[in-house]
Amino acid sequence: MNPDRYRQIQDTLVPYGARLVAVSKTRPEADIQQLYDVGHRLFGENKVQEMEGKQTNLPKDIQWHLIGHLQSNKVKYIAPFVSMIHSIDSLRLLAEVDRQAKKCNRVIPCLLQIHISGEETKFGLNQWEADELLSDPSMLTMKNIEIAGLMGMASNTDDTSKIESEFAGLKKLFDSLRMHYFIGKPAFRELSMGMSSDYLIGLKHGATLVRIGSDIFGAR
Ligand SMILES: *Cc1c(COP(=O)(O)O)cnc(C)c1O
Repeated sequence: MNPDRYRQIQDTLVPYGARLVAVSKTRPEADIQQLYDVGHRLFGENKVQEMEGKQTNLPKDIQWHLIGHLQSNKVKYIAPFVSMIHSIDSLRLLAEVDRQAKKCNRVIPCLLQIHISGEETKFGLNQWEADELLSDPSMLTMKNIEIAGLMGMASNTDDTSKIESEFAGLKKLFDSLRMHYFIGKPAFRELSMGMSSDYLIGLKHGATLVRIGSDIFGAR
């Protein structure tokens, strides 16, 4: 862990009012504890089991964000403690989060993951699927989830203009969905956009959360 780099990144975020999700996947608990000891509380993991293990052993005031693909049958393991889920990509998954959150007497903030890159491999909804999900009647009955915004991953490329246009498109979708579905609902507020290689572009296009791993902890 590089504390100087961590502070530089935090300073960069201040003028944007954005928050840092320190992506600690594959890192030992000692690395997380070290960042915790300089005051950081918000960590991102992409695997349910790994997050659950770390949550058990590390301080209880850590806010754990699930940023990776989530299977419905694993929601129950994280529902008691997860602070936010960035990777909702179906109504079925959302309904399961609602069901498990209800058992825990919690409301879990969720982001819809939007597929913005041209790449085949990445999960997520397209804009029509996002529309369809948000207009489904069952949305009105889910009281234990809160749609808190959108998440997207840009293409893995050096072509900055391609990343720019993917993030700009996500911001446009964010604004349009907010106008359609979330007037008077301030819970819809987060745009999770940008990682080590492209978070400056994410910030430029309105990111409120950036998910940074290797730039803080070193190469995986
Ligand atoms: C691993 C990961 C990140 C962080 O990637 P870095 O390049 O290490 O900053 C961000 N978002 C998601 C969804 C990830 O899986």
